[in-house]
Amino acid sequence: MSRFIQIVEVGPRDGLQNEATALPVEEKVALIRRLEAVGARRIEAVSFVNPNRVPQMAGAEEIMAALAPSLDHSRIGLVLNMRGWERCVAAGCDEANVVVCASDGFAVRNQGSTVAQQIDVLAAIVERQAVEGGPPITLTVSVAFGDPFDGEVTEDQVTAIVREAHALGVPEIALGDTIGVADPWTVRRRIEAVRGAAPNARLRMHFHDTRNTGLANAYASVEAGIDVLDASVGGLGGCPFAPAATGNIGTEDLVYMLQRAGFETGYDLDGLIAIGQAISGRLGKAPASSLARAGGFPS
Ligand code: ZN
Repeated sequence: MSRFIQIVEVGPRDGLQNEATALPVEEKVALIRRLEAVGARRIEAVSFVNPNRVPQMAGAEEIMAALAPSLDHSRIGLVLNMRGWERCVAAGCDEANVVVCASDGFAVRNQGSTVAQQIDVLAAIVERQAVEGGPPITLTVSVAFGDPFDGEVTEDQVTAIVREAHALGVPEIALGDTIGVADPWTVRRRIEAVRGAAPNARLRMHFHDTRNTGLANAYASVEAGIDVLDASVGGLGGCPFAPAATGNIGTEDLVYMLQRAGFETGYDLDGLIAIGQAISGRLGKAPASSLARAGGFPS
């Protein structure tokens, strides 16, 4: 049995959120369905942010209503605050991915609250879920390798948040390199530190390819024993509040690298490439992923 690496497709959220063109609900639903048809089992489908602030993410409830519930697919909603959690529960998401920033500079500018306040929000959401029910909660620690406003983010800043989340019983914790400043050696050390801080949590890694280290960071993660990675079809993505942030690592690039090495991902590479090309064309840009340009091998 070869090792299975789970890739969480984040293109419909992290990808589309940063595009100038806001797609209508029907097109977002069609994109999610196409991605699920080529192997996306977990997909960050929607974000419960204020649509006045991020118009690209409007229609989250309509998208979830259009997607028929499926035991084979988990549709994740991004949650930044209690209002987002309430919307996520009401919309019937299968998972809620709560974001806590690692550093105050980005925290205040991106979410309008400090790191400490965001940890309080996470704790309040976990508490409400325990009493009232709701989907499983995962945590993404954003700007876990560097903050566009504050600069370096230390290991201690990250492990402090992770320790709190672990104490709350959050079962999956992701480190997000929101602005693409991580290197593979730091990634390895940070994974080891986070494992020490949250020994019972599953770790997931989320890389942006802003400085061309995305796949190297994914490689370092897999070598360090990580088996869940985020990626975005076509290499779409970024963050509207992070200056010069570019896309996530392309799902097709990650799938190619892993499958070529003998890992299983459950994705159909050719199908992914076609989706990456189509969505990039629809958004009026060349695909950011290498596989969308070069194709797989052997063909
Ligand atoms: Zn991201």
